[in-house]
Amino acid sequence: MRVFEQDIGRDEMERWQLDRLNAQIAWAAANCAFYRPLADTHLRSLSDLAELPFTTAADIIERGEDMVCVPASRVQRIVSLHTSGTSGPWKRLHFTAADLEQTVAFFAVGMGYMCGPGDKVLICMPGVAEDGVGQLLARGLRYLGAEPMLYGPISDYGQAAAALREFRPHTIVGIPAQIRRLALTAPDAPPVNVLLSADRVSPVLRAAVERVWGCAVFEHYGLTESGLGCAVECPAHDGLHIRHDALYLEIIDPESGAPLRAGEWGEIVFSTLGRQAMPLLRYRTGDRGRLLDHVCSCGCRLPRLDTVTGRFSELTRAYSIYQLDDLLLREDAVWDYSASLSDGILRLEVAGDAELARRLTAEMWPELHVTAVPGAGFSTRGTRKRIVL
Ligand SMILES: [Zn+2]
Repeated sequence: MRVFEQDIGRDEMERWQLDRLNAQIAWAAANCAFYRPLADTHLRSLSDLAELPFTTAADIIERGEDMVCVPASRVQRIVSLHTSGTSGPWKRLHFTAADLEQTVAFFAVGMGYMCGPGDKVLICMPGVAEDGVGQLLARGLRYLGAEPMLYGPISDYGQAAAALREFRPHTIVGIPAQIRRLALTAPDAPPVNVLLSADRVSPVLRAAVERVWGCAVFEHYGLTESGLGCAVECPAHDGLHIRHDALYLEIIDPESGAPLRAGEWGEIVFSTLGRQAMPLLRYRTGDRGRLLDHVCSCGCRLPRLDTVTGRFSELTRAYSIYQLDDLLLREDAVWDYSASLSDGILRLEVAGDAELARRLTAEMWPELHVTAVPGAGFSTRGTRKRIVL
């Protein structure tokens, strides 16, 4: 974990990353058919990476088996992700035990920004099964000497509030919309810190959690493809510290594919450093972000990731869940909702004040016919993202 140390020089880190990238390219080219065309590739500088082709989600769906670099006996875990609905194609990501250990180490470092020995941590994330994300996080926390309680995603808020009052965690980790609703359900049981992960964090959602609980909120950005973790806020709340020892990040123009400079918004692209089972080189995440180059208030001089503003596929829609979240989740009377749109009719299912949600939405989008009925809101047992269906 040496590159997480704040006193490492940028030049030293970049030399180290260049070595690791060349080793990763050589490993991938030697061990899987998909990257075999890169067999003679050797980068002389990090900027040479821009010459390599991108890897896309479609590549993983169509040629995932050709990307696996180890025999089946060495694969510790395969994560299968639905890409659209429940009947769409799957992305299957492979990890060795060492790959998973790299994630556990990152979780230990990242959670160390929030908690330490003896602190109780309530994990409201999926992956309660063996080597799932919740399990790996719990292992990282035990490394730190913290005391994790693996609760899982929330569906019954009364039950979750009871668990919260009983356990009284120092830190809670969970899915943004679920944690906001939990805060509204149990304002009397505030943690010291909250870590939000697995979906875009609306600024009004974050503000609501901070206000209701009076706690500090940290954001984490990561995908299964990035090895579950990627970047996490430090206590200075001045950008997300990147997992530089395991990932090399680029920001590209989503139209032209050209690399962008620090400070410029574009698509987040990453390459794995030292992934054994399924290396990914220049993987296009579809997420919008930018790198921050200024020294963090905590003293760290390494590049960081600004708050990720969401997926391009959702950002470019005329009626996106992001706009609805920014509108509706500022209202404490709207606990949660789900939305679907067809033939000019936007249907809301609202937990909480359905009429308020309907009126506000109709004011924002007067060209749509908006209906709202009471409902359970959006719930997920996994990491499915919120969208307007
Ligand atoms: Zn910092």
